[in-house]
Amino acid sequence: MNSMIDLHTHTILSDGDLIPSELVRRAENNGIEAIAITDHVDHSNIDFVIAGLLKVAVPLNRYGKTYVIPGVEITHAPVETIGGLIALAREKGALIVVVHGESPVEPVIKGTNRAAIEAGCDILAHPGTLSEEDARLAAEKGVCLEITTRRGHSRTNRHVFDVAMKTGAKLVLNTDTHAPEDIMTREKRDAVLAELTDREDVRAAILRNSEEIVMRIKASGDVPRCTS
Ligand SMILES: [Zn+2]
Ligand SMILES: [Zn+2]
Repeated sequence: MNSMIDLHTHTILSDGDLIPSELVRRAENNGIEAIAITDHVDHSNIDFVIAGLLKVAVPLNRYGKTYVIPGVEITHAPVETIGGLIALAREKGALIVVVHGESPVEPVIKGTNRAAIEAGCDILAHPGTLSEEDARLAAEKGVCLEITTRRGHSRTNRHVFDVAMKTGAKLVLNTDTHAPEDIMTREKRDAVLAELTDREDVRAAILRNSEEIVMRIKASGDVPRCTS
C-alpha cells in the first residue's frame, strides 16, 4: 500500500485556516506520512513565508511522526517573474516549489504553465487545459503535473491525466488543503484516482511519484529530523 503524501497545502501564512502546527497535527492524525506546506507567495511575502516554515519545520520534524517539507506555491505572479521567483524560493530554502497553474476556475495569466515548466518548478498545480506541447516539455524537464482533490480545480483532472498519459509527463495527487475538511484521507485520494483509471499499476505509479519526491528531499538532509 502506498504512503499517504500531500505536497500542496496552505496555512494562515497565506489563505489557509490553520497554523502550521495544527495542520500537521491533523495530517498526522489522518495517517499522512509526509506533507509539504506550500503557502501562496509573490514578491511581497516570499521571505517571511519561507522563513516561518523553515522555523516551524524543525520542532515538528523533531517531535512528530509526519515529515514536514517547507515549500511555496508561486501564485498569480507576472509570467516574466516566475523563473526568478522559483530560483529565489530555492535560494531562501524552500524544499519544494509549486506553481499555481492555469486552473479553469481562476483568471491565471496565460503563459503561467509554460513559464513554470520552462523554469523547472517541482510541481505545476492544477494546470487546467494545458497543451500537449507543455506536457511534453514537463516530461522532458521532470516537472510533475498535479491531479487535485480540490473542487473547481479538479474539473480538468481528466484532461491533465490524459495528456500526461500521452506524453509521459509525471503526475502527482495533492489536495490543495486550505481547511480541516480538505485534509487528505485515503478514501478521498483513492476515489479521485479511481475516477481517472481502473488500472491499479497506473494509480500506484502516480502515488510513487510523490514518494520519490519525498525520498529525494529526505536524502538531501536539509530538514532536521530525529527518528528515534
Ligand atoms: Zn489559496
Ligand atoms: Zn494552492
